[in-house]
Amino acid sequence: MIELNGKDIIFNEKGNLKDWINSHQLNNFQIIVINDGKENVKINKKHTILFSINFNETLNLKQLINKLKKTIKKCHKKKVKIGIENGNKNIIGEILGGSIQKEDKLIECIKVSLIADKRKRIKYIYEQVCKDLDEDFEKSNYCDFKNDICIGKRNCKEKVTMGCCHKFKNPITMSGGLKECPYLKNKHCSTECITCKLFTCDAIKVKFRLKDIPLIAYYFNPIQKLIVKTSFFTSKEKIIDRLVFWQ
Ligand code: SF4
Ligand code: SF4
Repeated sequence: MIELNGKDIIFNEKGNLKDWINSHQLNNFQIIVINDGKENVKINKKHTILFSINFNETLNLKQLINKLKKTIKKCHKKKVKIGIENGNKNIIGEILGGSIQKEDKLIECIKVSLIADKRKRIKYIYEQVCKDLDEDFEKSNYCDFKNDICIGKRNCKEKVTMGCCHKFKNPITMSGGLKECPYLKNKHCSTECITCKLFTCDAIKVKFRLKDIPLIAYYFNPIQKLIVKTSFFTSKEKIIDRLVFWQ
């Protein structure tokens, strides 16, 4: 059983959902099978919805997520309840098959899809992607700072401290020399700029592509992706406002 948020949970072992339904003698529910097929899902407004999410190695995750997104959106629109209450939890169905890596990505996407409020959903995606990037940077030590000088600046003539947290004094004409970004406080970024976090200079081989980050690839439209790509030196709040506006 997997906890999706404080309330919703999903079974992840074959037969558990069926057993639970039988032991509680439940009726008045509709099980919707979610796979990567393109057929339309019909929702019975009189029933509570449970999902049976089927995935495997060869499955197209993007198509499955799209189907799940559309189905949850329909449920929210028609005000159909998703899941059956069990104590203080809400069981929303089952996930069957697949690898652990794919399951992790899928779980993140299910969590996001269940958030009906646009701003909350975007904020969740933003914070989750930043958290994953922070963990990756910390674990892999890509920038390898020593005495405040990163690997990218160590071999430069001028040993600039604080890595790439510098912007042009005249950003429009890209002239006037560089100054430290105003968000840099006590050697740390005081905002969470997703664009800066996604950037790696030529000294680092690893590149973060938006199409490889499911929460961005599957949940953001082309304008939102452009915002994520180009909003260097910008506060988290400003970027989230822009993303919400273009949703
Ligand atoms: S991305 Fe490159 S320039 Fe920026 S902090 Fe890391 S190593 Fe330095
Ligand atoms: S916004 Fe970007 S450039 Fe400015 S401090 Fe934060 S990470 Fe550095």
